[in-house]
Amino acid sequence: MNILVLGSGQLARMMSLSATNLDLHVLAYDVASQHIVNPVTGQVHEQTLAQAIAASCAITAEFEHIPADVLELCSRSGKFYPGAEAIATGGDRGKEKALLDNASVHCAPYKLITQKQHFLDAIEQLALPMVVKTCQAGYDGKGQWRVKSLDDVDTIWAEMAEFLAAGSELTPHSIIAEKMIPFDREVSIIGVRDRAGNCKIYPLTENQHTNGVLTLSIAGKEKGAIQAQAEDAFNAIATGLDYVGVLAIEFFDVQGELLVNEIAPRVHNSGHWTQQGCHTSQFENHMRAIAGMPLGSTQLLRPTAMINVLGQSNIPHSVLSISDTTSHWYGKEAKAGRKMGHINVSANSLHGLGEKLGELADILPEESYPGVLATGQQLILN
Ligand code: ATP
Ligand code: MG
Repeated sequence: MNILVLGSGQLARMMSLSATNLDLHVLAYDVASQHIVNPVTGQVHEQTLAQAIAASCAITAEFEHIPADVLELCSRSGKFYPGAEAIATGGDRGKEKALLDNASVHCAPYKLITQKQHFLDAIEQLALPMVVKTCQAGYDGKGQWRVKSLDDVDTIWAEMAEFLAAGSELTPHSIIAEKMIPFDREVSIIGVRDRAGNCKIYPLTENQHTNGVLTLSIAGKEKGAIQAQAEDAFNAIATGLDYVGVLAIEFFDVQGELLVNEIAPRVHNSGHWTQQGCHTSQFENHMRAIAGMPLGSTQLLRPTAMINVLGQSNIPHSVLSISDTTSHWYGKEAKAGRKMGHINVSANSLHGLGEKLGELADILPEESYPGVLATGQQLILN
């Protein structure tokens, strides 16, 4: 059976690698070149998008910013999961907030902005400092501003106005202002829902971001109450969207209360640890869900950490000398800050995981791999 993935980056590649064992064959649609490609080898297939859709048993996406005509074509096939509405919601922060409000799931207080007066009103209502984000097209902290004082208003508004003006009638642009949340930490929940509505949810992941980009995730630290809160939010959102496949939700933890930051209607970077930390990874479970197969276990096997490899031209082979460490390379051209690969490391206890992070910190320099040493030390102390 063939699966078609919209987007041909690392997420499509990892879906493909996990699908092979299920006898599923993944092809990807490269939105930029409009080619159908093998997401592992990059080899181009002489097929049109319409032909690839016809030849697939299921279609899915690895990102949210997909041209409307492509979404329409996939939707019409009746084989597109999680579906155009879920993708459109994940790709527009305004729609996302409306979904959260409808599902009674808490998020940061916000205000939509399409003109300068809304921006000034937002400053009054939400107070400074304030976070401002483009509703469309943002990722990895791009398309965001931090408004710290009234002196910033004119400069930031000039950039915001440019983004708003770049929208069209067909794809209008909007911006959202959010209250700056003084969170204790960031966490995420990844879960999967099958075609019959059965859900399985992975343990909560604690995430560290550096300059708006995920650098480190840890799974296996959480206690019951906070996991239950995250699962409630997952169930409300997944049911609200009649979702099929893997869904990720990012939260701010404010003194034990979870506020949703954003949702991603797809496999997610903060779920990469599941490749070694669980019996069935997020990639395999996504493939199973959309292909109509039974879901696999989402239980934690062992505490596991994921370290992102950003902008490097390789992963030092010496990391592989540390037991229970796995390196995942995406085969992309290196660019500053680009997600090039990741390293998963597991241990029998959190203390043991801390020791392994300490060993890795001897190999991975702090400036390129922030937080590895400090996180290891914290795990050992706790
Ligand atoms: P992603 O790579 O997760 O898709 P993104 O570009 O979509 O990132 P967000 O997740 O919305 O952006 O924001 C990036 C980071 O900025 C968050 O992980 C968080 O650290 C910080 N941030 C975002 N919104 C707020 C807020 N309202 N209050 C405080 N910090 C925030
Ligand atoms: Mg985010």
